[in-house]
Amino acid sequence: MLGGMQDWSLVVTQIVDHAAREHGTRELVTRWADGSESRTTWAGVRQSALRMTQALRRLGIAKGDRIATMAMNHHRHLISWYGAVGAGGVLHTINPRLFDEQLEYMVGHAEDRVLLYDAVFQPIVDRMKHRWPTIEHYICYDSGAQTTHFEDWIGGEDGQTDWTECDERDPCMLCYTSGTTGNPKGVLYEHRSTMLHALTAVQPAIFDFDARSVMLPVVPMFHAASWGLPWAGAITGVKFVFSAVNDPAALCELIQNEGVTHAAGVPTVWLGVFQQLDSAGGNLGKLRHIICGGSAMPRSMIERFMRNGINVAHAWGMTETSPIGTTGCKPSNWDDLTFDEQVDAKAMQGRVPFGVELRCLDLGDPAIVLPRDGKTSGALQVRGPWVVKRYFKAEADATVEDQWFDTGDVAVIHPDGTLQLTDRTKDVIKSGGEWISSVELENAAIAHPGVAEAAAIGIAHPKWDERPILVVVKKPGAEVDPESLREVLATRVAKWWLPDAIEFVDEIPHTGTGKISKKDLRDRFRNYRLED
Ligand code: AMP
Repeated sequence: MLGGMQDWSLVVTQIVDHAAREHGTRELVTRWADGSESRTTWAGVRQSALRMTQALRRLGIAKGDRIATMAMNHHRHLISWYGAVGAGGVLHTINPRLFDEQLEYMVGHAEDRVLLYDAVFQPIVDRMKHRWPTIEHYICYDSGAQTTHFEDWIGGEDGQTDWTECDERDPCMLCYTSGTTGNPKGVLYEHRSTMLHALTAVQPAIFDFDARSVMLPVVPMFHAASWGLPWAGAITGVKFVFSAVNDPAALCELIQNEGVTHAAGVPTVWLGVFQQLDSAGGNLGKLRHIICGGSAMPRSMIERFMRNGINVAHAWGMTETSPIGTTGCKPSNWDDLTFDEQVDAKAMQGRVPFGVELRCLDLGDPAIVLPRDGKTSGALQVRGPWVVKRYFKAEADATVEDQWFDTGDVAVIHPDGTLQLTDRTKDVIKSGGEWISSVELENAAIAHPGVAEAAAIGIAHPKWDERPILVVVKKPGAEVDPESLREVLATRVAKWWLPDAIEFVDEIPHTGTGKISKKDLRDRFRNYRLED
């Protein structure tokens, strides 16, 4: 027997139709690298996206073809998201910070036919063009380049068309994850998974959107679908404030001038913003909700936001989870907690929304599902309708039994379901048969006022198997002596976790997605010797 309700396919073009119809005059702003600004509306975004759909068809782009972008955050990039999927295409957002080998591999693997890019990435295009044989058309978002200019390209169309009809299980977006080893892997999002994710993301505990929200997405549109903001924002008709540069001074100015109420970005972004406020003065204006994830939010950062009356949604997720897995939503006893306890709660990665399930397996014996006791850490697995099943073009599923996906993260789950990430399975340090969390050591180290960044890695030890060493970058002009750092650490971690050595360096290596590259660090300290 069939149900009696209407057919309403969960395709993402419905989102921009809704935004144009219900929030048509709501503004979107872009601040360009030269300081100039452009403004459009949700109705304008839809109209331009329809034009782009026509322009893509004119290029011979058919349903399922991959359309790549390599661009910063701006409204033309947003238009391209809807224009690409509107033509039935699969939007492939390329991270320009990846290495040439990865860029070559991804474009070839995706078989991208069109690339839309910012002029600032022209050197990458020039360098890579001969290694990207599948790309037939290059379109530049900025005028003045030799390539076709985006506005001219869509300007020749009238927008009088319909979106290409898609099924909700058709793919709409392709995002590659760049592990530290092996080739990047493509995660192929569907219309349905994207829509379910977007509907979830607007909840108060996640993006907390309504029609009054003014959102500054600092998380790049080329990383993990910008956490789904371009879709979720259209559902509620938020005013987007895009910055084509991640310069802290520009971000602070935009927050003030555009009345930004919501912002999303990785912890490094907010460190930059705080430094800017400390040196140049100013405040965070109307900002009241921060979504932060990608790596653990330092406790001191959470505290500073909260002291300013800003709600923190500390989120965990990955490209494979579209990317929302958990957010730091308030537990039911929130109002009974002291301020310090509230900050402690937010320093964990929070709880899942409906649609995501988590479990942890014993690190030594994966047959054992660990209790949610808030103590025992294990290999974190996840499942749900917006979690990867099989990587693009892979021959086997990425999941183990019952659709569980192994995240590569190590975590503790608390009795109330709160997730607390403790490490990556590859980075956790095994000392005398017990696990030391490199991430917790790092978090403890950056509580020292002179420490800008810290990374803990395991070094082979004749007696203990592995022992941690801490690699530290000092803040400019700061004096940090190892003893004072050790004292700070001792107040936060168990004594046997204290690093055997502290090494000061000028810079810690990062991956193309801005995370500490433990692999490079381990290579650098490969011959490091610890005494018995
Ligand atoms: P990516 O797919 O590049 O977004 O990377 C996902 C990985 O980032 C996760 O598997 C975690 O290791 C890490 N990550 C994401 N959010 C957090 C968080 N809030 N705290 C700690 N690590 C995080």
